[in-house]
Amino acid sequence: MDDLIQQAAEDLAAAGKVAALTGAGISTESGIPPFRGKGGLWERFDPMEIAHIDAFTRDPARVWNILVKEMKKIVDSAKPNDGHKGLAKLEAMGKLKTVITQNIDGLHQAAGNTDVIEFHGTFAWQRCMDCSQKYETRSVDITEIPPRCSCGGILRPDAVFFGEMIPQDALWRSRQIASDCDLMLVVGTSAVVQPAALMPVVAKESGAKVVEINPERTPLTDEISDYLIMGAAGAVMNQIIEKLEQIS
Ligand SMILES: [Zn+2]
Repeated sequence: MDDLIQQAAEDLAAAGKVAALTGAGISTESGIPPFRGKGGLWERFDPMEIAHIDAFTRDPARVWNILVKEMKKIVDSAKPNDGHKGLAKLEAMGKLKTVITQNIDGLHQAAGNTDVIEFHGTFAWQRCMDCSQKYETRSVDITEIPPRCSCGGILRPDAVFFGEMIPQDALWRSRQIASDCDLMLVVGTSAVVQPAALMPVVAKESGAKVVEINPERTPLTDEISDYLIMGAAGAVMNQIIEKLEQIS
């Protein structure tokens, strides 16, 4: 593993343009449960019943009470961990430009990354269903459910529900960035869900190195990734940054 840390630091030092693709695994250390998989929210809730746009429009109060309130509690108190901070540091060092994320927790921006493409929108903001006015989620008063905009419209997460489209500009820009980078860091995602799954493939086909940081092997390992550094995002990022600072 030390060899791979060294390798990653050297590859980052050599790369001109670095992009990152992140998923739920980078945020679990911040106490954000994943949606899918073991311990995920979808073990407790049927997403089609509770996270589908039709369910929300049919009965916003129900979805707020069962799901959105709980997510608000989790996200309001979550702080970026060393994985997020490491990526922010890479941006500050002039290496990393864009983070493409499947997460909706807003923690990359909280850590200091300035260009974050959010495939699934963001839960850090709520949006009025009538006038589109946005409100920071942590400042939204939930004594009455569903909470409302000053215009009287119902507030909904500014995130993508099931049954809604991925924002097309996010998709388009991600492809551009993936095809234009020299190195893509894949952190905390098995990248099996589209459109995220496509990005490492696009990067690879365009000649970039794909460096994976995940706690276990994924479908990308050996197929797409140049190498996998197995471990938790925070600990691995800390080691890579430390090495990179020694080199550069
Ligand atoms: Zn409104």
